[in-house]
Amino acid sequence: MTIPRLELMAVLIGVRCLAFVKGELNVPIETIYLWTDSQCVLKWISTKKDLGVFVKNRITRGTSTRLLCDNSLWWHGPEWLLIDSHQWKIFTCEDVLANQEYKCELKVGKKTTESSALLCTKEIEGNQIETPYGIQCKNFSSYYKLIRVTAWVERFISRIKKISVKTSKILTCEELKIAEEKWIKFVQRRNYSDIFSAIYENKPNNLQNQLGLFISDDGFPRCKGRFENADLSEAARIPILLPRGEDFTRLIIERIHKDLFHSGVSQTLSKLRHKFWIPQGRSTVRQVLRHCLVCRRFEGGHYGMPKMPPFPRSRVSQSIPFASTGLDYLGPIYVKYDGENKKRWVCLFTCFVTRAIHLELLNDMTTEEFLYAFRRFVSIRGAPCNILSDNAAQFKLGSATLDLVWKKVIKCDDVQNYVSNAGIR
Ligand SMILES: [Zn+2]
Repeated sequence: MTIPRLELMAVLIGVRCLAFVKGELNVPIETIYLWTDSQCVLKWISTKKDLGVFVKNRITRGTSTRLLCDNSLWWHGPEWLLIDSHQWKIFTCEDVLANQEYKCELKVGKKTTESSALLCTKEIEGNQIETPYGIQCKNFSSYYKLIRVTAWVERFISRIKKISVKTSKILTCEELKIAEEKWIKFVQRRNYSDIFSAIYENKPNNLQNQLGLFISDDGFPRCKGRFENADLSEAARIPILLPRGEDFTRLIIERIHKDLFHSGVSQTLSKLRHKFWIPQGRSTVRQVLRHCLVCRRFEGGHYGMPKMPPFPRSRVSQSIPFASTGLDYLGPIYVKYDGENKKRWVCLFTCFVTRAIHLELLNDMTTEEFLYAFRRFVSIRGAPCNILSDNAAQFKLGSATLDLVWKKVIKCDDVQNYVSNAGIR
């Protein structure tokens, strides 16, 4: 913290102390003096200008012990302090020496800004009409946000125009309604200028004849269907015409779809028709809903299991038990041996056809142990024609070892003779 700031803090602490002492002492006090030698702080206190954060302060102060010993100001205070209080010097802000320090705390370059806005409504030739307050619909992903932004802008402009506006921090229902109407009128004018002219000038127009369009008292082209006598709200009986392909229309459909907790096309369209009529509404709604990420995620369904392939021939052909054998390990299981708990594994042989099982206990998961187990299995059940196992390392190595042994064995003349005599391939 800088020295002037520390001095200011000292004054603050002094003021608090004074207030405390004054409050605690049950003695009438006529006058209170609080002294500070920091003229910078004095000026800060007396000024009426805006004081800001310390940006820069290069003030350095300090003195040596020798100079301090001879410093009468330090020990006795200013000379005028020793004379009568009526003759004390009165400081004015201008003669303060610490002008630089004082200025550092002033907010610089922040003059009262004058805001002005140029309002204009511009209607360009043809179908190009300026969007409400230049707001671009495509930049909004939410209907409510668009309407609220429009309503805030509307309120701001009314305030500039000095039209009486509400000062609450919340937008009222009327303000939102006005903003919505502004957008509806805008998209209608942009897309249906021919309908307006057809209605006003009594010209023939296909869409107008088809939907029985007319301009209502509030200035919207509405559809006069065949529900005039229906027990429905006025908005549903004569819905407002909305063009398809407009971003605003898309936002309305999305809003209704979300309000209905992501209902389907029919429900969304039905709710939409309580107030609006969109030509080719069903396909428009379907098109919008197709892009709804939430729906896509749910309608996509879970991960489907692949179709089960037919059983291999070895599983469905008649054969002797364990001619085709599946192989797997299970464990470890704990076996009490010599008073100790030891880990053991089980090698499981299963017949593909009969589902019979044969279990062999293994001391560990080495290839050697597996080969012992396999030999025991073969001695009891006979040699299988084929074995299916997962890709465990001991099986792979076991298979390689068996191949090696088998090749040696099979090349042996005795074996060859035996096999050919027995008719085994
Ligand atoms: Zn959805």
